[in-house]
Amino acid sequence: MPGKNISSAASLMADDVHLRNELEADVEKLANEIGERNMIRYAQLKAAADFIEDSFSRAGLQPRRDSYELNGRLCGNIEVQIHGVRPEIVLVGAHYDSVFGAPGANDNGSGVAAVLALARRFSGRSFEKTLRFVAFVNEEPPFFQTSQMGSFVYAGRCIARNDNISAMISLETIGCFSDAPYSQTYPSPGLGVFYPRIGNFIGFVGNVRSRALLRRALSVFRQQQKLPSEGAALPGFIPGIGWSDHWSFWQQGYPAIMVTDTAPFRYRHYHEPTDTPDKLDYDRFALVVSGMEKVIAELAGVSQ
Ligand SMILES: [Zn+2]
Repeated sequence: MPGKNISSAASLMADDVHLRNELEADVEKLANEIGERNMIRYAQLKAAADFIEDSFSRAGLQPRRDSYELNGRLCGNIEVQIHGVRPEIVLVGAHYDSVFGAPGANDNGSGVAAVLALARRFSGRSFEKTLRFVAFVNEEPPFFQTSQMGSFVYAGRCIARNDNISAMISLETIGCFSDAPYSQTYPSPGLGVFYPRIGNFIGFVGNVRSRALLRRALSVFRQQQKLPSEGAALPGFIPGIGWSDHWSFWQQGYPAIMVTDTAPFRYRHYHEPTDTPDKLDYDRFALVVSGMEKVIAELAGVSQ
């Protein structure tokens, strides 16, 4: 339904309007022009990887493809780094594959578009910690939470070379917002007692070990008062809590959180052929990304 968005482009700051347009163009590219992208649609998966690499390069960064073999075919996580003066790493990631049968505009064209937009904004700036932006392959089933999941392979390589990751943020399905009553549900009915029933907020989710990171990220996001936000550090076994690439980093003991519109608990086109670019609320999506820019800058620390 057109006009369902409460915020309009006119209410965004000029920088956010620019950001909104970038996000919309990149979601269009991934979900419309390239379309469904996974091991069945391997040519499209590769086209998405090429597009991401090219976007990082045009931002003035040097992408590295971290490949592994799956069923005789190469697939790759794609990373860029902005080196800091301290050894700690702040890593921001999103998966670029889409589930079988779906073009994946919100899941997870939105997360990838956000990673690309953030990389453009951080390129050329200097921070105390190293910043790393990563696009992960093969998050969706049948690889989800297996040793073949792209982020699981990647996190395993990080721990093997002793990467000191002080914060990992997974951007997972971040473009759907609604002001309708009861537009928000929860994985466990009890959580609805504590959290809103209207899907107009962005969610921050972590396991108990990542509580300090979650609180800090949420507090910086809230200082800007751009968009309502809710956060919870919950045991990782609760359904939905570990449903993205941050789970892979938990397996290696790294602090990691997910930023999400809560996906299946709000977005009725989740994992459907109807997950197309026209379903996203780009105004509020842009507010999420500009808010996360501040969070990431704070976590990385300004270089003296
Ligand atoms: Zn996803």
